[in-house]
Formats: sequence, structure tokens, C-alpha cells
Amino acid sequence: MSSISNIEWTDATWNPVRGCTKISDGCKHCYAETFAERFRRVKGHPYQQGFDLRLVPRKLAEPLRWRHPKMIFVNSMSDLFHESVPDQYIISVVEVMVAARWHTYQVLTKRSERLREMLNSSLQFAANQKHIWWGVSVENRKYGLPRIENLQNAQAATRFLSVEPLLEDLGKFNLKGIDWVIVGGESGHGARPMKKEWVVAVRNQCKSEGVSFFFKQWGGVRKSAAGRVLDGKTYDEFPPRIHHPVLDAPECLALAAKFEAAVKNTTLVEISSSNPSLLELAVC
Ligand code: SF4
Repeated sequence: MSSISNIEWTDATWNPVRGCTKISDGCKHCYAETFAERFRRVKGHPYQQGFDLRLVPRKLAEPLRWRHPKMIFVNSMSDLFHESVPDQYIISVVEVMVAARWHTYQVLTKRSERLREMLNSSLQFAANQKHIWWGVSVENRKYGLPRIENLQNAQAATRFLSVEPLLEDLGKFNLKGIDWVIVGGESGHGARPMKKEWVVAVRNQCKSEGVSFFFKQWGGVRKSAAGRVLDGKTYDEFPPRIHHPVLDAPECLALAAKFEAAVKNTTLVEISSSNPSLLELAVC
């Protein structure tokens, strides 16, 4: 969506896919849906189609054009592993991440089974890249704990959990192989409450297991007033970042052109014949 982000744990967002469909309790007040639907039918706006799922091939190579290293949240307005996104498109998104390796990527999904299956097969080429962090959302025990297990069973150099919105006490859970945990409460109108003891329980498990812990926010209707201090402290821990050199500009442009051409061909053939609404053609 943007080269700058207000999200506390990232620098920028990149959305080669836009829109999504709800899958679990954490989606109830999806901020991406609320944002996108505000612009439905606003002519020329990137979210003219609201939250309808679509691919955005012209955004695919964006990180190759960002020459200053950033922490990039991949698909802040969608879920890369949504069942309607073709395998080949996901592979192309990941190929861009491998090519533009001076950035750090945060890939977060609720579709953890597909993440596991692809990281163990067609995405193996990226699984051990330390500049790509793979994460799952954990809002409660029912949906979150199986996702953690799927992530643990996926080949990945760096794994993380986004425990947001935290909707209940998660109890004791397995943090083996997890490098980073973000916790946050829901914010905005109708926000579901988060109890301090639920947060403390996650923090304490992270501390005893040596896992980096980031406390994003208490949330609530007035998010900024509630702040992000926990027991008198701000928790801003991250896993270590890897620094790779930036490719020179002509090489970046050549790679960008190659990736865009490859995706354009694949996507148009595979999607336009079955569901034209999935392919965004508008330029914004
Ligand atoms: S999976 Fe994420 S982007 Fe998709 S509806 Fe749920 S919260 Fe929103």
C-alpha cells in the first residue's frame, strides 16, 4: 500500500495482492476491510473495488524500486496465502523478496496450512533466507494454536507470531522454533477487551524461552490514550536483522521488468478465464 507505515513493528507495507475474505474470529473487525470499504466505488482510488480480492501485478516489483533498506510488511491489506491466489503468483512474490534482499520482509498469514505446504515444497528456495520472516496470526486457542504448529512444521529461518487481537488467555503453548512474538489488543469501534494477565502470560513465556517480545498496544476505543506500556516498560524487541548490499539501479530495473512480465503472463491466463474480477487492471 505504501512506502511508509504507521504500524509500530514495520517501516513500509507492500501489497501485490489486495482484499481478502474472513476466516476466523480475529477477522471480525478487520482493519483492512474497514479501510478498503471506505473507498468502494471511489473512481480511480486503489480501493475502488473495496475489499474484493484481486491481484495487483504492477505492484509486484515495488521492493526492487525501494533502494533504501526497509522492514516491509507483506500484504498488510490481504493474505498472501489466500486460497484464491494462484501458487505461481505467490512464488513470484517470494522471488521478488529473494532478489531484493537488502530489505527485511514480514509475511503474516492466517492460512497457515498453505504456508506450511508451500514452504516445504515450492517455496523451499526461500525458506532459509534470513531476511524473510514468516508469521501466523494467533487470536485465540481454537484458531491460533494449530497455526503455531503449522508454522513450526514449516521450513523457515525466522518464524514469528502476531498475537493480535488477543481475545483470550492462550494458556501455556509451545514456542519451540519461534523467534519473535508481537502482542496487541483490538482497537476501534466495538473493540473486544484484552486482559493484562493474558499479555503478561505471553510475555513471561517469551522471556523464559528467550523469544523476542514486542508489545504493540493495549488497543480499545481510544488506542493512543491506552498506549503501549506494560508494567512500566515499552517492549520493542525484534529478531536480528541481516544486512545485504543493495543491487545497482540498472540491475534492479531489469529484474523488476522480468518479474512483472512473468506475473502478467501467468496471472492473465490463469485468472481471467475463470474469474475476471480477481485481476485488477486499473492503474492508480
Ligand atoms: S485474514 Fe487478515 S486480511 Fe483477511 S479478512 Fe482476516 S484479518 Fe482481514
